[in-house]
Amino acid sequence: MNLNRTFSYYCNDELSVERGMRVQVPLLSQTVVGIVDSVFSVDVSAEEYSEKEGYEVKELIEVLDEEPVLNDELYELGLWMSHQTVSPVISCFQSMLPNKIKPKSNRKAASLEYFVRLLDGSLATTDKEKKAVELLAKGEMARTQFNKLVPNYIPRLVSRGIAEVYSMEREAEYEELDIREADYPLTEQQKQAIDRINSSDKRVILLHGLTGSGKTEVYMQLAAQKCRENRQVLILVPEISLTPQMVKRMTDRFGNNIAIYHSKLNDQQRYEQYQLVRNHKVRIVVGTRSAVFMPFDDLGLIVLDEEHDHSYKQDTSPKYHCRDVAIHRAEHHGCKVILGSATPTLESYARTIRNVYELVELKNRIHQDLPQSHLVDMQKEIRKGNIIISSQLEKAIGERLAKKQQSILLLNRRGYTTIMKCRQCGEVVQCPNCDIAMSYHKDSNKLMCHTCGYEMSTDIACPKCGERNWNHYGLGTQRLYEAVQEKFPEARILRMDADTTRNKDGHQKILEAFGRGEADILLGTQMIAKGLDYPNVTLVGIFNADALLGRTDYRSVEVTFDLIVQASGRSGRGQDTGEVYVQAYDCRHYGIRLAVRQDYISFFNEEMNYRHIGNYPPYCYMAAISFLSRNEDMAVDNSWKCGEYFRQFEDIRTLGPSQLPRMVSEYRQRVVLKASDRQALIDKIWEWYAGQNFNKNQLKIQIDIDPYVLD
Ligand code: ADP
Ligand code: ZN
Repeated sequence: MNLNRTFSYYCNDELSVERGMRVQVPLLSQTVVGIVDSVFSVDVSAEEYSEKEGYEVKELIEVLDEEPVLNDELYELGLWMSHQTVSPVISCFQSMLPNKIKPKSNRKAASLEYFVRLLDGSLATTDKEKKAVELLAKGEMARTQFNKLVPNYIPRLVSRGIAEVYSMEREAEYEELDIREADYPLTEQQKQAIDRINSSDKRVILLHGLTGSGKTEVYMQLAAQKCRENRQVLILVPEISLTPQMVKRMTDRFGNNIAIYHSKLNDQQRYEQYQLVRNHKVRIVVGTRSAVFMPFDDLGLIVLDEEHDHSYKQDTSPKYHCRDVAIHRAEHHGCKVILGSATPTLESYARTIRNVYELVELKNRIHQDLPQSHLVDMQKEIRKGNIIISSQLEKAIGERLAKKQQSILLLNRRGYTTIMKCRQCGEVVQCPNCDIAMSYHKDSNKLMCHTCGYEMSTDIACPKCGERNWNHYGLGTQRLYEAVQEKFPEARILRMDADTTRNKDGHQKILEAFGRGEADILLGTQMIAKGLDYPNVTLVGIFNADALLGRTDYRSVEVTFDLIVQASGRSGRGQDTGEVYVQAYDCRHYGIRLAVRQDYISFFNEEMNYRHIGNYPPYCYMAAISFLSRNEDMAVDNSWKCGEYFRQFEDIRTLGPSQLPRMVSEYRQRVVLKASDRQALIDKIWEWYAGQNFNKNQLKIQIDIDPYVLD
């Protein structure tokens, strides 16, 4: 099967079409929107050309843009991304563009109407320039109209400073760039880091610094340098709704000369932010994953903050990694990429050792030493009757309440929910569409499937033995909230999880309230582990710290380590020293022990050993091919054939197929491939795909290069 086919259409006005423009065309019996790939003239009639092509070449219906929505760099980027992720080019273009100008939308973005106006007529010297000035002296003119009178001449007028092009659309607010100084001197290690980054000859720099060691200040200093050179700066952050603090610090430093781009904006807002960059109104962009596709034309710096964060990988097709795209664009623009983290991915750190990336370190925290961390053995606590909160943590919370300091309590719940289990036979209530346990929601007293959303009453008999005697297992945020409130009735607690943040600004409201000191305790899931900087927080408690270790995913130890280190970093960022309590059942595990000691290097060495033994990344490259179908045989047969196909290659290790839990009524099978040459692996997957022939309504094939999780 061919993922990328292009079709030819004719049009009699070749000047009005360019590569990267959206056009409306007839395809089969429909009208669809496509992107122009190339424009060429032929000196034969449409009939003759059709004959040559072997199909009827039709006329295109309408050109939707006056300017390409994808310039040459972005167009090439889409082609590259398609190849790297083994996905259709058109789906890459769709990921790259804001909704308003995605190829599937045929609404003309009104905002793409451009005008030309005179800037300085006295600069005109040639006859042609003088003629243009004469035309524009009467007032601004629509670009299309001007183009008809003086074809292909606008770029020259603009570059000579005679005229400018502007659009009449509604614009997002912005201010002139106004770079302020930091209100403190840089530390010695910050100065050294900046020097090392500037003098490095490497494209990619890994800035490894403890939480609170002043990385953000380093980003801002480098960004200021680039702004002064009139170049653009892109700062990527994991999930912006969780890091309003980054935006605030950036606007405090640079004024509102910033585009902010993330998924919580509506289509119009996104489009307006996009246009701020396209029209050169702002120099700096702060945004999440998709901001990496902004239409820059002179990037001077890309920062990827918290580079280990999983939200940088898109989990739907095209399954690209933001880091790869950032590096690719940096090569085009000739700028550096800074990957910042306290807990870099093993891949990135390994690349510094192999001398591919430059390693720059910030070894000390700015204000305080690291918080004091304590590992709490929950096996022992349970024997004492403390099932949820250990006695040590309880005491520590009480002390914070007395001192009017704040606490953060984090429940590690990924892959961990409250389930209903029959006391009689041990049966767990499962979703009828997905082979996973239903989650119990106490507030609505319902069972819900977190995968497909299916809901069920809790008033049921056990499907296996018919008993109506249920046990509720597992610790959810609600249960934890109640347990803490019960121990400390006077405490003001804010809960942050998927339930309380469903509304648009849910996250932000909760975090702001906590920042204003309206609560003593912030309690939630992993979403509170990242990036928060509240000086009054002196205690962090982590529940179920080892909950992920039992999983089969090769990254589970790394994920656990990151979570504990990142969450610990929220404690003691102000004047008072912080404390951290890590509650776990398996206290001997190196992932837990080293995380409590915040010892990244030892963790790296230890974990690399395991990756080496098991031959996992960064010792190899991986790809996963999944087969999804409502018809079990279809999924199984195709996955087996796929496994057979790849076993013919000696340089690829083929694992599986293995059966995954059914999801949303689809059976799922997966083949995993390992190889040492990434490009060769990708090329072989393309070859395999070209030979596939299947009905897309009956079978879905999903390809994931460098899969992040394989559970
Ligand atoms: P990181 O990004 O590594 O977590 P930050 O840049 O957020 O660290 O710095 C932690 C805190 O220290 C912030 O509140 C920041 O304002 C402050 N800070 C950063 N650099 C300095 C400095 N040179 N002198 C004083 N305070 C600083
Ligand atoms: Zn389900």
